[in-house]
Amino acid sequence: PESEKLRTLHYEEVDTLNSEEIKKDFPVLNQQVNGHDLVWLDNGATTQKPLQVIDKISDYYKTYNSNIHRGAHTLAARATDAYEEAREKVQHFINAASSEEIIFVRGTTEGINLVAQTYGRQYLTPGDEVIVSELDHHANIVPWQRICQEKGCTLKAIPTDKNGDLVLSEFERLITPRTRFVSVGHVNNTFGTINDVKRIIEIAHSHNIPVLIDGAQSIAHTPVDVQQLGTDFFVFSGHKIYGPNGIGVVYGRKDILDKMQPWQGGGNMITDVTIEHTEYNVPPARFEAGTPNVADAIGLGAALDYVRHLGIRNIEAHEHKLTEYAREQLAQIKGLTLIGNPKHRVSVVSFVLDGIAVPETGTLLDKEGIAVRAGHHCAQPALRALGYEMSVRPTFALYNTREDVDKLVIALRKIVGSK
Ligand code: PLP
Repeated sequence: PESEKLRTLHYEEVDTLNSEEIKKDFPVLNQQVNGHDLVWLDNGATTQKPLQVIDKISDYYKTYNSNIHRGAHTLAARATDAYEEAREKVQHFINAASSEEIIFVRGTTEGINLVAQTYGRQYLTPGDEVIVSELDHHANIVPWQRICQEKGCTLKAIPTDKNGDLVLSEFERLITPRTRFVSVGHVNNTFGTINDVKRIIEIAHSHNIPVLIDGAQSIAHTPVDVQQLGTDFFVFSGHKIYGPNGIGVVYGRKDILDKMQPWQGGGNMITDVTIEHTEYNVPPARFEAGTPNVADAIGLGAALDYVRHLGIRNIEAHEHKLTEYAREQLAQIKGLTLIGNPKHRVSVVSFVLDGIAVPETGTLLDKEGIAVRAGHHCAQPALRALGYEMSVRPTFALYNTREDVDKLVIALRKIVGSK
């Protein structure tokens, strides 16, 4: 539609983000919560969706909803083309060599489970070892723990220091001749640490160990180039980058995917079935059993277009400034302790207040219309490594402004003052 063109053209003309303008693209942000204008600072949990994404999904259901691949009719062809076009958009966004390396899944969690249950199940044998990190989300721990338990393997973790940085010298010491796989997060969700995944991949590859990077928290905040990283797998969720829920991506290097067994069985992942035997399809179809989430894949394509038009470098710069401003302002609040001070970080601030429980802080902020995450963030080993069970976690996105940070700081001063 014409309105879409206008919005995106406007953004191309400016090189720094005009978040006030951008906010207008996100209808959900334009509401009051508990009598205050909503301030959405829970972007680490999920991001809001712009009209460009909502319209795209709505257009799909209104005009060309169809199953794909199988139907030989006009709507099936349109849906198939749009679905495959979305795959190409993902390919270009992360600079994969081919769209055949892009598998659509439900999200990061399903993606990591897919790799653990295919690659892990196929290649791990008793006594082997897998390495994750202490900074990882539970989604990058539990799937590996489960396959390791089943296969009689050992799961190890790269430790973190008191700033929330991974200790890479320890990583080298963890590697043994039995290490078969390394799976680590790109950006930590609790302190915002940007891990040196390029270095981790180099070290792992020098021992011929393949690597998966969990990109759930990096994809919307910093440029990702899977070829430049040299990673074997890269996984992310659409909902963390202004796309819909229920869609995510596994990037896998083609030569590895070609040798990998499927995970789920069913339609679409086959080329020929008899009662006795099945010939499997080639990747990526081999890993996409059943009717895929066509609408949300198309929605994800629209979200990536949106981010591309604004420019991920601009987004990164904007969020960096905002995060540093928030840290400065928050540090001045009496009784507030910032948790974690990693060397390289994006978009996340974690803190606790003296004498006010973390869940209570979350509830009091909500009364002021401010949405943050207050809890363990599905990263208990990370928080515990720094001596905490929970934290309050505001996280910033492209539509957040200095005014949003100021509102957070004013609300916190009020909470602290009233105690
Ligand atoms: N990995 C990291 C670093 C995350 O932050 C998250 C979500 O918070 C996940 C994995 C899981 O993502 P999803 O719930 O979309 O599968």
